[in-house]
Amino acid sequence: MAEPCLFCEIVSGRVPARRVYEDERVLAFHDINPMAPVHVLVVPKVHISCAADDPGSEVWGAVMDGAVRVAELLGVSGGYRLVVNSGEQAGQTIPHLHVHVLAGRRFNWPPG
Ligand code: C5P
Repeated sequence: MAEPCLFCEIVSGRVPARRVYEDERVLAFHDINPMAPVHVLVVPKVHISCAADDPGSEVWGAVMDGAVRVAELLGVSGGYRLVVNSGEQAGQTIPHLHVHVLAGRRFNWPPG
């Protein structure tokens, strides 16, 4: 049997996470290995493996709305970085679409 998707397990509540925000389409939770003082992941509740899977504008819109909402809730609207790693070469390790919301320190450009 295929391994269950970790982020689907978090969405369902079977795997615990420090939840920040939730609506009918997305869930946001603190990253377990934060790369900045604020590091939250926003995931769609439906399983989409990566950005290239053409989730359609509705899912993208919901995930981006969720990211903006998280920044507001955590008081970092003045400056934050949104990151989507799509595919192994880009550094995606969990094959369930997610947006990283990073804030609370200065970020370099270009990213590594
Ligand atoms: O973009 P990428 O796929 O690399 O991001 C996956 C993220 O999921 C990592 O930042 C990792 O720390 C996080 N993670 C988590 N909880 C887990 C496993 C991974 O927050 N149980």
